[in-house]
Amino acid sequence: MSTWKKVLAALLLSVVLFAVYLIIQIRSFEVESLSEDLFVLRGIGGNSTVLNTTQGNVIIDSMTLPMQGKIIRAKARQLTGKDTTLLINTHYHLDHTHGNPGFAPDTRIISTERTLSHLQFFDTDFWTDNSSFIPNETFTDDKVLNIGGKTLHLVHPGRGHTDGDLVVFIEQEGTAVLGDLMFYKYYPNIDLEAGGSVQEWSATLDTVLEHEFEKVIPGHGDTTDRAGIQNFQRFIGQLAEVGRAAAANGDDLQKVLASGALDSDADFSPLKFAGIPLGLDREFVLQRTWEESTGNFERKN
Ligand SMILES: [Zn+2]
Repeated sequence: MSTWKKVLAALLLSVVLFAVYLIIQIRSFEVESLSEDLFVLRGIGGNSTVLNTTQGNVIIDSMTLPMQGKIIRAKARQLTGKDTTLLINTHYHLDHTHGNPGFAPDTRIISTERTLSHLQFFDTDFWTDNSSFIPNETFTDDKVLNIGGKTLHLVHPGRGHTDGDLVVFIEQEGTAVLGDLMFYKYYPNIDLEAGGSVQEWSATLDTVLEHEFEKVIPGHGDTTDRAGIQNFQRFIGQLAEVGRAAAANGDDLQKVLASGALDSDADFSPLKFAGIPLGLDREFVLQRTWEESTGNFERKN
């Protein structure tokens, strides 16, 4: 075989091997049982929460791919013996919503009004093609649901990751599902273009902490508790301070990136999807706080 044919064969083989690896990764799920009725499914790219009620399953967030949504629905059925009665999307990002088409077309799907607006604005093509899986029920500030013996309090506590995130407080489980208002030991995405805010994020977490709960399910990372939120809040507070100081001193981005002012991220790591870093690292969060504080970004929706 000539050299270029060998190179081509090696290239093809690595593409095939990566595709196989990706499919194995996408299909592999870790199940954490928090109680008889509450489970966290961990797949590549994030967490999905399953709540068993006498009227069927409530699923919070559907991950990145329709195939993952299908697996979430099936795993939930294995765990509880019931189908999904309600799907909740904590915010508009594709790693929390693109699994929606894996559920039944008539599924009740709830999000905030802002999240619906962001889905239609930022992700128009996907949701035009999958219009029967876009949220069909929305609210602005909060909403209480009584479903099959469980009380769910859905709250939009303020701006942070975007301006439309919701938190689900599950009363009988003493649990708060925070979506991406909380990253556990990972650098967060900060979506300024969709109304996210480092400056307001800490006050938003104060609003979350006013509620009663012990267990915390973040959008990414391990299950934690109120202290886990407070640790993350300290990081966000410090990041906000770095931004404000840079704006006050007229520091450019290079100076902010080089400064050692951020140190509450010692045990954070960058999120990866099937081994591929997503660019959510220390440099990214410093850049975002600088951009917000100095007005170097454009809010899109
Ligand atoms: Zn997100």
